[in-house]
Amino acid sequence: MTKNQNEIRNNENLSPLMRQYFDIKDDYIDAILFFRVGDFYETFFEDAKIVSKTLNLVLTGKECGLEERAPMCGVPYHAVDTYLSRLIKHGFKVAIAEQVEDPKVAKGLVKREVKRVVTPGTVLSSEYLEDKSNNYIMSIFYDGIKYNVSIIDFSTGEFYISLLDSAKKLYDIVDKYRPSEILYNNFLNFSKFNIDEIKNKYYVSITMLDESLYDKKRIKESDYLNKLIKKVDNDIVKIDGMILSMMSLYLYIRDYQQKDLTHIENISLVEDRSYMYLDSATIKNLELIENIQDRDNKGTIFSILDKTKTAMGGRMLKHMIESPLIVKEDIINRQNIIKSFYNSYKDLEELFINLSAIYDLERINARINMKSANAKDLVALKNSLHVIPSIKVVLKSFNSEYTDKLASEIDSIKEIYDLIDKSIVDDPPYLMHDGKIIKDGFNEEIDRLRRAKDEGQNWIAELEEKEKNKTGIKNLKIKYSRVTGYLFEITNAYKGEVPDYFIRKQTLASAERYATDELNKLAETILSAEDRLKVLEYEVFQSIRDKVIVSSNRINKLSHDISMIDAFASLAKTALENHYVCPEINENSEIIIKDGRHPVIEKIVVEENFVSNDTIINNDKFIHIITGPNMAGKSTYMRQVAIIVLMAHMGSFVPASSASVCLVDRIFTRVGASDDLSRGRSTFMVEMTEVANIINDATNKSLVILDEIGRGTSTYDGMSIAWSVIEYIYNKIKCKTFFATHYHELTELKGKIQGVENYTVAVDEEDGEVKFLRKIEKGNATKSYGIAVAKLAGLPNEIINRANEILKELEEKE
Ligand code: ADP
Ligand code: MG
Repeated sequence: MTKNQNEIRNNENLSPLMRQYFDIKDDYIDAILFFRVGDFYETFFEDAKIVSKTLNLVLTGKECGLEERAPMCGVPYHAVDTYLSRLIKHGFKVAIAEQVEDPKVAKGLVKREVKRVVTPGTVLSSEYLEDKSNNYIMSIFYDGIKYNVSIIDFSTGEFYISLLDSAKKLYDIVDKYRPSEILYNNFLNFSKFNIDEIKNKYYVSITMLDESLYDKKRIKESDYLNKLIKKVDNDIVKIDGMILSMMSLYLYIRDYQQKDLTHIENISLVEDRSYMYLDSATIKNLELIENIQDRDNKGTIFSILDKTKTAMGGRMLKHMIESPLIVKEDIINRQNIIKSFYNSYKDLEELFINLSAIYDLERINARINMKSANAKDLVALKNSLHVIPSIKVVLKSFNSEYTDKLASEIDSIKEIYDLIDKSIVDDPPYLMHDGKIIKDGFNEEIDRLRRAKDEGQNWIAELEEKEKNKTGIKNLKIKYSRVTGYLFEITNAYKGEVPDYFIRKQTLASAERYATDELNKLAETILSAEDRLKVLEYEVFQSIRDKVIVSSNRINKLSHDISMIDAFASLAKTALENHYVCPEINENSEIIIKDGRHPVIEKIVVEENFVSNDTIINNDKFIHIITGPNMAGKSTYMRQVAIIVLMAHMGSFVPASSASVCLVDRIFTRVGASDDLSRGRSTFMVEMTEVANIINDATNKSLVILDEIGRGTSTYDGMSIAWSVIEYIYNKIKCKTFFATHYHELTELKGKIQGVENYTVAVDEEDGEVKFLRKIEKGNATKSYGIAVAKLAGLPNEIINRANEILKELEEKE
């Protein structure tokens, strides 16, 4: 709370409503407080300013007993979800204070209480979540030496842990998972990890947790977590810090958010030995998921490969890209399935049609477990289950043992389909307390009450007829309104003929309304049947939902199976449409690519045809130095090799006419100049840090792409560093390395070091005009063609001619 706000808070003249506001706000300092007043949620003071700015709403003011009005910004209660979701996406937490008394009966000020706190990492409704992305909440426990990290996607039931020994690695994981919410212990403020910087960089909501959430004794209260921990076959879950990290996250969600976590079935390690670990620099440089310009997914590998039809399929594909396999058998398994799909385009299309009908089962299942699923969710589940049998049939039509196996493993959970089909109407309302959810014939009591309700309308009609005849008043009618219920209405013309037993209740402009004992009794029967019906329908719905919860593990597995099938089908379709081939996985430590292409750039270059290139790299010549002018295509070529190797490790087909790829343990890239000014580091510093990380972590099984290192400093400095890095790689690491450089001098290394081979990108030059041929060939670049490239870029002839003169003079001097 700002100082100014504190003064206001302590002012004696403050109105009681504002006093109540501050009393509640005290407990939710780091959240935005939505304060229910009538039909609006109001925000005040600093919160109001934030909300007005973020949501682009008018900032108004409210009398608060003081001279100046309190800044105020409100949203209508019926549209609260839209506004909430926008605040959440900006990384804000929102505490929602409701009126907990009926304003009509309350004496004095209506009582208000915070009923829920919506936080970015724990939301579940689909309007807050993006279909093909995960929504992670992370807990960091810093013990003074190590960072103990737990990560949960509550909406899908994933749970990951990692033990990190440096702030650098923590930055890396945050960058990779992009949590929307981070929880941490006080001690983290004294580490090298700067949480405030992260908050500003990613719009993530951060919360320092109370010490009580790190009380080791409380692990005893966490039965379910203990069960999960027991299943993990790794000692890191026995480390105190790790336990506290997992426990704090668990307790935060369970106790602060009052959400059940039983849909989470295992804890996985971030660094799983069956996956390749890609650091965030590589994910970024290769533009796997987000492009470098605006972090959108346009122009990314994901955008090329993604033809998935389901949300969980999209998330699975992202996961496959970010976590390639490193076990040959696993890769071959995936290849076999993708090949089967690839071989029958017609069946593949059929498969996609069926997959399109499947909803986000993972998230629906999470909502069911959380008891927040509504009837629409159950119907979405049913409609999804409906197509499972046809998916099995289509899988069989591929006529392959691999797809047959997939088909046989799928559980169509028919009981759940049948249960929902016979109980819930096909198009239920959103509102859960207004009835019209349960099908006729499912529950006897509901049927009986419904009949009473329908018959009630007949009884009303009969009574109306009866009284009409009895009184002789022709236009006597029974009218219903929400406020007054059922009443007779008689126009003023017949006022004199109204009998005694009609009790006047309401006077209108041209008519009067009356009750009778008989009508009251009838109305009572009808209305209580309606009320009872609404309550009963909701109860029955809940019991159906509880029955579905029992099958939650099966739904999870089904969802997982479907996500894999969808992702594989997507890879097969991309391969077919883009003419990819299935790579061979060799054990000779060589990478041989014929006519390789860059999967994204080949789609982007339109003026010229994309020129494919061959690659052969092996233990004999494992350092390739690539020289050539700017814009020749060096960076594109090197990335293309890295991407093809990565796709091969995903089990995917690759853009080439043939490929044989050995297993690599890591892929490292240092590409292009990117300033990281927000972290106060210059280009050169960033570059050197990335190189240092690569040098420290690479092994002889790694693939390393180094693009123009040493550029950000003076020529001699840069060249010397580049030179000695190559020597070090040759002598100590022996990893397969592609090294692009504008220092032609480095080509001299070829004679000096055995493992080096020189390559260059072919260029044609005639009369000072360059033409890029885009072909990689053995040899050295003889010139840098800088002036020719400058001419292409449109520098005036005067400058170009003068530059040529100067260049000549300089060359003659040498
Ligand atoms: P360099 O790293 O040598 O400066 P880039 O790899 O950045 O060059 O390539 C510059 C541009 O040339 C790319 O943006 C792309 O438009 C085009 N390009 C690169 N490689 C090819 C290719 N093989 N076929 C067609 N166009 C290419
Ligand atoms: Mg380049």
